[in-house]
Amino acid sequence: MKLTDPVTKIPTVGNAYLIRLKKLGIETLEDLINHVPTRYADFSKVVKIKALEEKTTVSVIGTIKSIKNEYARGRFVIQKAVLQDETGECDVVWFNQRFIPRILPKGTLIALSGKIERQGSKSVLTSPEYEVIKEGKEPIHTRRLVPVYPETKGISSKWLRSKIHLVFESADLMIKEFLADRLLTDYHLPQLEEAYKNVHFPNHLIEAELARKRLAINEFVFLHLKSLIRKNNWQKTKPTYKLKIAKGVVTEFIGCLPFKLTDSQATSVKEVLEDMGKNFPMNRLLEGDVGSGKTVVAAIAALVSFLNGKQTVVMAPTQILAEQHFTTLNDLFERLKVRISLVTSASKKIALGKTDIFIGTHALIHKKVIFDNVALVVIDEQHRFGVEQRAHLIKRSRKGTVSPHVLTMTATPIPRTVALTAYGDLDLSTLKELPTGRKIIKTWVIPETKRNGAYTWIGKQIDALRAQVFVICPLIEESATESMQQIKAATSEFENLKKVFKNQKIGLLHGRLKSKEKQTVVENFRSGKIDILVSTPVVEVGIDVPAATIMLIEAAERFGLASLHQLRGRVGRSNVQSYCLLFTKSAYNKRLGAMKKSMSGFELAEVDLAMRGPGEILGVKQHGFVDLKIAKWSDSFLIKLSHEIANRIYTDPAMFKKAAKFMRLGNIAMN
Ligand code: ADP
Ligand code: MG
Repeated sequence: MKLTDPVTKIPTVGNAYLIRLKKLGIETLEDLINHVPTRYADFSKVVKIKALEEKTTVSVIGTIKSIKNEYARGRFVIQKAVLQDETGECDVVWFNQRFIPRILPKGTLIALSGKIERQGSKSVLTSPEYEVIKEGKEPIHTRRLVPVYPETKGISSKWLRSKIHLVFESADLMIKEFLADRLLTDYHLPQLEEAYKNVHFPNHLIEAELARKRLAINEFVFLHLKSLIRKNNWQKTKPTYKLKIAKGVVTEFIGCLPFKLTDSQATSVKEVLEDMGKNFPMNRLLEGDVGSGKTVVAAIAALVSFLNGKQTVVMAPTQILAEQHFTTLNDLFERLKVRISLVTSASKKIALGKTDIFIGTHALIHKKVIFDNVALVVIDEQHRFGVEQRAHLIKRSRKGTVSPHVLTMTATPIPRTVALTAYGDLDLSTLKELPTGRKIIKTWVIPETKRNGAYTWIGKQIDALRAQVFVICPLIEESATESMQQIKAATSEFENLKKVFKNQKIGLLHGRLKSKEKQTVVENFRSGKIDILVSTPVVEVGIDVPAATIMLIEAAERFGLASLHQLRGRVGRSNVQSYCLLFTKSAYNKRLGAMKKSMSGFELAEVDLAMRGPGEILGVKQHGFVDLKIAKWSDSFLIKLSHEIANRIYTDPAMFKKAAKFMRLGNIAMN
């Protein structure tokens, strides 16, 4: 068996298992050994029957003295056995595993591991793991630290354990080391093969931990090496045009803005302009919370391109956003006579003539727009686009082998350590603060007992201050599309609130409305004809109603921090005091506590990161963000260590060759 073999190479693993294993993301033997335990059951203490103690978890070796199925009520079957060793006897029970008496007949020498319970004067082993003892066979399920895995229907931990053990016994598995010995010594890391074996079948927890560390480092090192290669390849390309940075004009433009740039905007502008004057094209990620003012930074970059007589292409994820940018840039560049064209899938004919700035959706990639001299590509809300779409747009804007400057922007608050690993090939600028003058959105966690009081308060806010309110229904299941159940929940909440708010006007918005109906509802809310808009959680993007000042979220504990933060960002868009009411039935919830304390997406991202498992950061999972198997994004120490290791590998040809061979980096380097 080889690592690249499909799981069906394992004896007795057929198509039925293939389908089940796929649910766990396992297709090859390599995937299988990368399916690491969530924990270990400690069955390492082996005791004699006489010494059994209540409530301890132990292993016992003995012979089955008697065993039988006992039929209870309904279809319930209990397996009762008596185990015997030289010191005494103890009772054993299993539930609904009627095959056990057949496979463990009287006289079988077995090891049992599990918890001892007291029943009357007797010690009873309840639902223990069992393993028939055979000469020369090492223990897998009993008498040791036993791995417990993420399971799925038809795939138990016991099954996984047996198969993984079998795979390791295969002589030609060949888990090759790719880190130089020097690195293993310097960082006190176990060999790769040893690490894989120890993560599944450790002798001590310390061994397991070290193994896990080694495997996590693999993931990070691999990601970082890929970034370094991409970065190097990028830096070998030339910018399409050598740009001059007219400092004076830029300063004057900034001086004429209706506001003063925040400190981080000023720093980011400086970083962007420095990049644009270099001998290789810019490849920068501008990260900033919703409302932090990324657009103006991009606009200043576009101005530089324009002043050099070159074009800029701006790609936004939705038509609403593209239109918004179109309006914004037209306002900003009014005096300069910059020609701006809007390209969306709805725009019919592309006879744009002379254009300085193209703004559009992904239609920019496919429509027959002529980019003759693009010096700058801006990609807004980058997480909404696939890697290919991004690459495609850049390629379209290239001239032969030379590349335009690329500015990528995102409101997903990815912590710095994470960004440096996942997007290590991009340089990073961060907008750390919101423009001054924004009021803090008052955020309250509201228990069920205060629901009526809150409704009364909302009613008064509407009547006295013409406040407008969003009501977000509970999240029923996490899914990108709305289920029927979700829509039903919103509809019933809508009916319910009509009874509570008799004097106010209530609207309902969900994804299954026809686009015309949606438009009407949003328009009515915008124009104040609707006071309270009941909406499903899925409806979020693009609804920008500055007059809305109250955000009410039902069953807030079900939402991730990222969603809560995005939803709260729908209010607080004017200088009027805004409120966010988090309704919850749970007594205390860490996430809601964090929401109350913090307004910053970055801070919340850090909190979120610390609370979640590998891969799951801030709902970016669904956007194709790097999925970690073993490592955790929250482990900033390991991330830093891995960067160091990756850099050493990258700068040492011998080390690099060894690593590249194993990791099939050759292919990646070609991209
Ligand atoms: P985002 O980072 O979410 O894309 P925008 O660029 O849309 O944010 O900016 C949000 C709003 O803040 C816009 O109305 C913009 O004009 C305004 N804005 C941007 N920078 C500043 C600033 N330094 N001071 C005050 N308002 C600003
Ligand atoms: Mg924006």
